Amino acid sequence: MSPDVRNDLDAIPAYVPGATVPGATKLASNETTTGPLPSVAVAIGEAASGANRYPDITARALVERLADFLGVAPENVTTGCGSVALCQQLVQAVCAPGDEVIFGWRSFEAYPIITRIAHAVPVQVPNSADGSLDLDAIAAAVTDRTRLIFVCTPNNPTGPAVSRAELGAFLDRIPDRVTVALDEAYYEYMRSEDPVDGVVEAMSRTNVVSLRTFSKAYGLAGLRVGYLVGPAELVTSVAKMMVPFSVSSLAQAAGIACLEAGDELRVRTDAVVAERGRVRDALLGMGFTVPDSQANFVWLPLGDRSAAFDEHCGERLVIVRCFAGHGVRVSIGDPDENDRFLASAKEFVTGM
Ligand code: PMP
Repeated sequence: MSPDVRNDLDAIPAYVPGATVPGATKLASNETTTGPLPSVAVAIGEAASGANRYPDITARALVERLADFLGVAPENVTTGCGSVALCQQLVQAVCAPGDEVIFGWRSFEAYPIITRIAHAVPVQVPNSADGSLDLDAIAAAVTDRTRLIFVCTPNNPTGPAVSRAELGAFLDRIPDRVTVALDEAYYEYMRSEDPVDGVVEAMSRTNVVSLRTFSKAYGLAGLRVGYLVGPAELVTSVAKMMVPFSVSSLAQAAGIACLEAGDELRVRTDAVVAERGRVRDALLGMGFTVPDSQANFVWLPLGDRSAAFDEHCGERLVIVRCFAGHGVRVSIGDPDENDRFLASAKEFVTGM
């Protein structure tokens, strides 16, 4: 007989990542197709020679560089093993068992999992028909047990971003005792009018934090480093929840090098944004419904046809991300990868 574990564990699903199939085009995990910028790769190589030592537990140099980059104090920043770890630390820092965590649905798959791991209760508020978060319904769902709200903007997997005006009106309705986490994993891909800058929001309110990552636009998904910006007391509480030495010395060095790369990043995100427009237009032209996306993916709300579309693409060695019964998310790759995906999509609609 195996030892006892928590009796609610069977009911908590494991996080399911996008599949990797050798030789296939992977458009399932919102990664960048190209590796880290050359200057960042050099910094990782240099850091590797010191890997016999534990990393700086507070990632002080990276935190100071981030603070400088973002125009905040170091006390307002903490780093984690990807922003998903910081999401989890945040739930643990603010929730007691039975407390409620609200988020739109669909949104980032990890939210309900990390909430339940912390013995808190996920409250999932359906998105609007166009895939955007229904901020009115989210505000209306706040109860005395609510401790935390995740606002994922741009929203994974549907794509739309919240505007600054919408967010301001929403935050005005949320009691100060409730923390609002702006999950900005795709921040660097936003080109919308009146965009939210979560760092500005976090510095002008007492209950708002911004979560960002080096995994997406900076191309460091495999190294695992993200950061949280917010009021100093909350930052300290979140940092306390960290598994010691979560951010490796290679990740710390790479993060610093990314921030020094400057314009190189903008060139990369501009290319993705251009491809995002091209892919969306082509899909619309084929008759698909595609919500506006401000991230590095597009969402196809195919409902019952999602699994068939996923299978169809997989047979053509294009790996997309299926949310069965709801939709399919397709990451934006390089032009060749996107062409391969568009060819699959075209065959799907023409029944070939
Ligand atoms: N937030 C959102 C909305 C995401 O989509 C992801 C990655 N899929 C994350 C956070 C976590 O990213 P990471 O842990 O790699 O920083």
